[in-house]
Amino acid sequence: MSNTFQTYNLPSALLGALAKMQYDHPTAIQDQVIPVALTGQDILGSSKTGSGKTAAFSIPVVAQLMDRPEARVLVLAPTRELAEQVAGVMSSMIRGCSHLRTVLLIGGEPIGKQLMRLRTNPNIIVGTPGRVEDHLCRGSLHLQRTTFLVLDEIDRMLDMGFSIQIDKIIKRLPIERQTLMFSATLDRNIERLAGSYLRQPARINVEVSDDEPKNIEEESLYVPEAAKFQVLLEQLNQREGSIIVFVRTQIKADSISYQLQQANFKVCAIHGGLKQHQRKRVIKDFRNKHYTIIVATDVAARGLDIDHIKHVINYDFPQAAEDYTHRIGRTGRAGATGFALSMISSPQERRLWRIIHNDPVEKEVKRPFRQSTNFNRFRSRSFGRSVSG
Ligand code: AMP
Repeated sequence: MSNTFQTYNLPSALLGALAKMQYDHPTAIQDQVIPVALTGQDILGSSKTGSGKTAAFSIPVVAQLMDRPEARVLVLAPTRELAEQVAGVMSSMIRGCSHLRTVLLIGGEPIGKQLMRLRTNPNIIVGTPGRVEDHLCRGSLHLQRTTFLVLDEIDRMLDMGFSIQIDKIIKRLPIERQTLMFSATLDRNIERLAGSYLRQPARINVEVSDDEPKNIEEESLYVPEAAKFQVLLEQLNQREGSIIVFVRTQIKADSISYQLQQANFKVCAIHGGLKQHQRKRVIKDFRNKHYTIIVATDVAARGLDIDHIKHVINYDFPQAAEDYTHRIGRTGRAGATGFALSMISSPQERRLWRIIHNDPVEKEVKRPFRQSTNFNRFRSRSFGRSVSG
């Protein structure tokens, strides 16, 4: 990380903005993506949230927009929060460039404001596939002049069922364009899409762990479903610092949050059922430490970038290994040690825990679950483990 941003020959306005953002040195993914993207080549990048991926694609795109004001970029992201984060980063980079404007097209926000903003002919369009397609159908968005396309976390967009919308959107774009596509994983599905959306892409693969090892102490606790809440109370009482509690459904997020409120915890819930302004408020209040506990579903927590989360508690164990990695990546940020506790209440969950931890051997005490709070515990230290942040 000895390089500086000066080595890339970026416009001085952009270098000034990066300095204000306190980005002094490029991260590993930025160091690989920026010079290649500046040549105009397509990129298929595999890297995770937390690696500096947003700036890796934003810097070369903004640099080119500064030189070519007639150029346009469309960024598609899976969730509202991620789209907001990207738009925020790009807005900081173009501060002071009055000829560049952004628009954020996400669901859950009044469409009127977006329509007004679209009339100003913005150069930077960031959105989720659903709302972007909605604007295309209304005729309020035209993409014929799009010069850059960024597909951020394409694997998540596919998981969330956006493939048809993405396809429809891309059909409206010119064939002559530069496309930067990022995915946490590169499976056959992603390769197939890369084959149709990208032209001779450079492949860039950066592991987060090479750049920024995380210190996360992971443990699991075997708890029958009926005893989980009691165990949660005990665990919360033993822990200090901000805590994120993951549950499987929106209803459960609300009900656990309500029960914790009744037990006098400073707690809020975040899930896909909240309106955009409610989600914003919750994130802001949690970021400002108005609440110490946030109860979240997977989708709502994706891309949450809050440095002070100390503990992740999987009240409901995730259903996929990838979700586990995303969840625990909410802690252990900025070099701090994080703690991740998973409650496990079925043999299937136990099996998934072992798969995730590369641990086929039966290390735990083999006993049926007991109705007491003295549950079997299995610790796994994972310092330096590669997790997404
Ligand atoms: P991302 O992977 O894009 O979500 O970025 C993760 C975090 O790293 C964000 O909080 C960024 O503001 C921060 N970040 C990205 N690039 C740099 C950089 N070159 N220097 C310092 N911080 C950075």
